[in-house]
Amino acid sequence: MTIAAWPASQQAWERTKASLGGGVSTGLRASMKPHPIFFQGGQGPRLTDLDGNTYLDYVLGWGPVILGHGHPGLTEAVSRQLPLGATYGSGHLLEAEVAEKVLARIPGTERVLWSNTGSEATQVALRLARAATGRHRFVKFTGHYHGWSDTMLVGYRPGPDGSLGLGSLGQNPAAMEDLALVTWGDLEATADLLKAPDSDIAAVFCEPVLCNSGVLAPPLGFLQGLRDLCDATGTILVFDEVITGFRIGSGGAVTRYGVTPDLVVLAKAIAGGYPLAAVAGRAEIIDRTTKGVVHAGTYNGNPVVLAAGSATLDALAEPDVYEDFERRGTALADGMRAALARHGVPSTVHQVGPVVQCIAGVENADSFDAFLAADQEFYDRLGVQMLRRGVFTLPGGRWYLSTAHSDADIAQTVAVFDESLAATLSQGP
Ligand code: PMP
Repeated sequence: MTIAAWPASQQAWERTKASLGGGVSTGLRASMKPHPIFFQGGQGPRLTDLDGNTYLDYVLGWGPVILGHGHPGLTEAVSRQLPLGATYGSGHLLEAEVAEKVLARIPGTERVLWSNTGSEATQVALRLARAATGRHRFVKFTGHYHGWSDTMLVGYRPGPDGSLGLGSLGQNPAAMEDLALVTWGDLEATADLLKAPDSDIAAVFCEPVLCNSGVLAPPLGFLQGLRDLCDATGTILVFDEVITGFRIGSGGAVTRYGVTPDLVVLAKAIAGGYPLAAVAGRAEIIDRTTKGVVHAGTYNGNPVVLAAGSATLDALAEPDVYEDFERRGTALADGMRAALARHGVPSTVHQVGPVVQCIAGVENADSFDAFLAADQEFYDRLGVQMLRRGVFTLPGGRWYLSTAHSDADIAQTVAVFDESLAATLSQGP
């Protein structure tokens, strides 16, 4: 049985458009097809919408819901904290308790700074790098996302004028001067910039796996190459592990690839869906926040959110979590590849742990440019067919698995993917 229409969601969409900017709380959500679906709740890997339809959820709140919805340990930890108050404006022990868990899991980290969102955490990481080096600019790779601030948004996607520079109307054009854009994997260009006497580069920022633009794993030796270049030039290496942290390995990309940056930015999976973010790294850099580097935030170190962080990190320390992620991620990616091949759809499927990316319309898509060339119109129609069959996915082709997704859920999803492909192809453009 397929879902023909979503009357309650449609009604809710009309209502929210009259009170929320663009009808949504985050602009991108307005692009979900055929229109945003409105949910009443979730349990494990499933979400239920206002019309009573239940879906296997591969959106997972755009990443954070790594334990699935309503995880008992997480819910219990947050419930225990709730009657004790929302925030204290001073110290409490959860701050250190969760920091200790982070430090124990990510090699080379000595201190943690708590923040609320990835966008805030990347900004303080840049400020710290500038303060530590006395330099101003930084290297950013095209297609990498480090939040929506004026500076960080440069070079993420082609902007309103079609060029890969400013990404948003209203963005400060001076942001372009803050950074040098390099193609992901181009060590030579990075070396030229870092070694040029007047380049003034404080930091190299990267998503160690380029999750936001195709789930592209780092070319062999590339992360180590960045580490060596940064060591040789006194530049701060920052891994933005907002997506990869605690997801593609127990210590994220740091343990998966065995390369230690100076600073690691964390968010999403760290608190299972609650708004917690962090910068972790070397004490000598991070301790500067009480020595002239401003890092502020009313909600930093919020106890409710840290209770969630503590329980999430405990759940992720259970045996077999990462082995299961690897097996299920591989099963999903292999199943998708087989279905795409069977239906003769040129495509690429990338997978790193529990993160999978389907790039429709492009074979061997191993660059940001190839990712941008994906047949988005086809994938949108495929996404609607999957939604009609009870599988909820992100618009751009990225899929997230939680610990709650079982092998049987993946097998069911692969069957739905296959059926949805057939339906999309028979329907025509
Ligand atoms: N960095 C990366 C790699 C991200 O994927 C994101 C969010 N998608 C951010 C930073 C920004 O995080 P937030 O949305 O919490 O501000």
